[in-house]
Amino acid sequence: MPQYKVAIVGAGPAGYFAAQALQNLQTDELKFSIDMIERLPTPWGLVRSGVAPDHPKIKTVAKVFEKIATSDGFSLYGNVELGTDISLEVLKTKYDAVVIATGSAVGRKLGIPGEDLPGSISAAEFVPWYNGHPDFAGHTPNLDCDTAVVIGAGNVAMDVARMLALEPSELDPTDTADHAIDALRNSSIRKVVISARRGPEHAAFTSPELRDLPKLEHTNVVMRASDIAAALERAGEEPEKEVRNNLEAMRLISELEQGKHARTMEFQFLSTPKEFRGNGKVEEVVFTTSAGEEKIVKCGLVITAIGYEAAALEGLPYERGKVLNQDGRVFENLYVVGWAKRGPSGVIGTNKSDAADVMSLLIADLKEPKPRIEFSSLITADKVISQSHWESINAAEVAAGEPHGKPRIKAVSREELLRLGGL
Ligand SMILES: Cc1cc2nc3c(=O)[nH]c(=O)nc-3n(C[C@H](O)[C@H](O)[C@H](O)COP(=O)(O)OP(=O)(O)OC[C@H]3O[C@@H](n4cnc5c(N)ncnc54)[C@H](O)[C@@H]3O)c2cc1C
Repeated sequence: MPQYKVAIVGAGPAGYFAAQALQNLQTDELKFSIDMIERLPTPWGLVRSGVAPDHPKIKTVAKVFEKIATSDGFSLYGNVELGTDISLEVLKTKYDAVVIATGSAVGRKLGIPGEDLPGSISAAEFVPWYNGHPDFAGHTPNLDCDTAVVIGAGNVAMDVARMLALEPSELDPTDTADHAIDALRNSSIRKVVISARRGPEHAAFTSPELRDLPKLEHTNVVMRASDIAAALERAGEEPEKEVRNNLEAMRLISELEQGKHARTMEFQFLSTPKEFRGNGKVEEVVFTTSAGEEKIVKCGLVITAIGYEAAALEGLPYERGKVLNQDGRVFENLYVVGWAKRGPSGVIGTNKSDAADVMSLLIADLKEPKPRIEFSSLITADKVISQSHWESINAAEVAAGEPHGKPRIKAVSREELLRLGGL
């Protein structure tokens, strides 16, 4: 019976759903052995380091990932980085097929003056900071100011704004990294302005997330009724369902009672950022309004959440922040799935159908199986996290969280993670 060896690089949703598709497509005549390679000592990609800590239900998808990971023929190799510990060339030579599922984690830039001033950071740094990603734990976002501006009109911008505007005790029962909870507890920020270039009818927020905002117990959420009324008018008689749902959710927000709480999250539309200004650090953001006027918002922190690009990996072709591909095929025996393929769009579930389509192509392209190989002979890394090491880390984090009513307390440094794994 032919057994094919497939390497999947990246243990995020797209990588796991690619593995699941291969597992589901196995027959008596076609078997797969799957090696999943992940640069961090922990798997789950943005489910661990992206999804907002105050949305724990979304993270329950990790149970599906663990089922995939404990199925026959699956091996996890964590703490192994493609491009550093193993090369694409080696993978392509030794495996029957290689699937790139490395996501897109580099924040897009606005390209305006002042963007590099201290006090200006990308959501691509801020989000992994509060989520305990080892590479971002040492960051120190400036929370010693009254006002923060978040630039962007999608769910990432909304997550970032909410994290800044929540009453810090609301984060106690979450898996927010301890260093971030401490910093947010001492934060002076009381107003967060979310600024969108276009009108409410074009915003990429999704309505379930908008509908959650009025449930915030300690934060005023401000949207101007006039902005929503104008958007309804511009959207016309029969806007698309998503636009209609969004505008309805926004209308409800615009009717909320104001001024009840010490903390405020305020939406600003039709404002294009032109410049960040300040003396050695961000002190204000200059916007141009749709009427062509200048509008200045004084702030000490500005976070851009305007999308992500894939980090370039040697040997892969890129175009506009994505791996260049044709329906998921890159070159012979090389495929791409998830955000590295499509760019930063869609929810976790979008990666499932997408990966299944690409895995069907992969199977159709298979030739004679290559000889078996020992993974350890291919890499230079010496501390490799297996599934059982990861299970030890996971169990230790969950046990640490239990007495505090948290789903887990994340270990943050690579050293601590390896130690918990028993390495
Ligand atoms: C802030 C934020 C909040 C989100 N919230 C939600 C939400 O609430 N609900 C929802 O449905 N979706 C949400 N999403 C979207 C969801 O997270 C993505 O759809 C999904 O994670 C994309 O999966 P992926 O596997 O392509 O990428 P990722 O999840 O980024 O996984 C990529 C993996 O590849 C690894 N990797 C990268 N480079 C290498 C390398 N060289 N070698 C080895 N491994 C490597 C990374 O460490 C990572 O583990 C959110 C996204 C963000 C950014």
